[in-house]
Amino acid sequence: MRLIIMGPPGAGKGTQATRIAEKYAIPAISTGDIFRANIKNRTELGQQVEAILAAGGYVPDEVTNEIVSDRLTWDDAANGFLLDGYPRTTGQVDFLDGALGDHPLDGVVQLTVDEDAVVERLLKRASVDGRSDDTEDVIRDRQALYTTETAPLLALYRERGLVAEVDGMGEVDEVTSRLVEAIDGLRAGTVA
Ligand code: ADP
Repeated sequence: MRLIIMGPPGAGKGTQATRIAEKYAIPAISTGDIFRANIKNRTELGQQVEAILAAGGYVPDEVTNEIVSDRLTWDDAANGFLLDGYPRTTGQVDFLDGALGDHPLDGVVQLTVDEDAVVERLLKRASVDGRSDDTEDVIRDRQALYTTETAPLLALYRERGLVAEVDGMGEVDEVTSRLVEAIDGLRAGTVA
């Protein structure tokens, strides 16, 4: 299974990606997690992207693409993966197409949420995780960037018949069940 999970900041992609990855025995690859781990470990990459993440901007495609193409060569991704937070730009979509070559994507699950409810969720997370980009202003900026840069990518994947839309509001377990149903539908070729 080669999958992408897409949705606005705070849609619960990370939580759901971990669960879905476990269910299908594939790695969940989160570019945001990779960047945050590098910032925490004070690597060169971390120092390069720290200010960008804090401001809610996008890391340049050249940097992000390189990280993903390297991660996709790991043994655990040989039979599939779930990408969380990637691709986010048309440049990343093109790059991913090239990187996948003869093993194209099986599907893209789109998590939909109410944006105002999500701001509340993220502000709550800020008090637990202390993420530098979970302040109200930066959250609104990240949402706006998602709307202008990333949401339009769904149209590209929709044209390929790859997108299944899933309601991301409700209990975590409930959302996971909906996602599994959608992914099984994509697999069977019956896109929701
Ligand atoms: P969220 O979906 O809540 O914004 P992520 O963990 O997916 O959280 O991303 C956090 C930040 O990491 C983004 O705001 C951006 O700065 C950076 N980032 C993650 N993935 C990408 C990507 N594919 N391209 C560019 N920047 C990215």
